[in-house]
Amino acid sequence: MTDTLRLFAFNCGWFQCRPGYFVEGDEGDYLRGPVPSYLIDHPKGRALFDTGMHVRYRRELADALPSDKFGLQWFEGMDIATRLKAIDVDPGSIDWVINSHLHIDHCGGNALLPNATIIVQKRELETAQHNPQAGLYEAVDYDTGQKIAAISGEHDLFGDGSVRIVPTYGHTQGHQSVIVRLAAGEVLLAGDCCYTERNLDMMVLPRATVDVEQGMLTFERLAKARAGGTRILFGHDGRQWATIKEGVAL
Ligand SMILES: [Zn+2]
Repeated sequence: MTDTLRLFAFNCGWFQCRPGYFVEGDEGDYLRGPVPSYLIDHPKGRALFDTGMHVRYRRELADALPSDKFGLQWFEGMDIATRLKAIDVDPGSIDWVINSHLHIDHCGGNALLPNATIIVQKRELETAQHNPQAGLYEAVDYDTGQKIAAISGEHDLFGDGSVRIVPTYGHTQGHQSVIVRLAAGEVLLAGDCCYTERNLDMMVLPRATVDVEQGMLTFERLAKARAGGTRILFGHDGRQWATIKEGVAL
């Protein structure tokens, strides 16, 4: 246990795509974005924000995804359980998993956190349950037996304002983000409500947006938060990720 709130970032795999997948019209070679997971270590308990990918996306260097293919992959040591153990955190000690949404690359590690209660927006859970879709929503990732807390709207996790779950709809019907209040200031863990900093700079939603109107409202809130000094950690931003130290308190 800790006496102050700490936040750690881990990369649990790679998201490989053309630049135009993030900002339509952008060209260039395939690039790799991280598939982040964040540990929020609070005096009253431990939470993870997103958990990466399921073991079925694991690859060896010999059969790694070619550099000109769209897809997901992770390598030995990148799963969330191994990431946690590397900083002496027992995966069994995680009390909550906050899933930004239930796409395969955000909840695929849930099964590795046996004692966690899964916190997800009710509308996101319903979407996943009613629209299982290979490669997008798969029960093997999110239906892993733990207790589920299906919430609607905002939720103050510890009741002290330090970890606030906020709806950020658009990418999916029930997407949510987390605002963590550190001594150094607020950090907003975006998840897929905003893939990259460039999306927000240009106020351009990616094509992978189910509700454009809600997506723009989310972007406006993010832009306002950023202007007010909140640090935003984006969903799959390889350029930003290069500036982040993994496994060290942010
Ligand atoms: Zn997604």
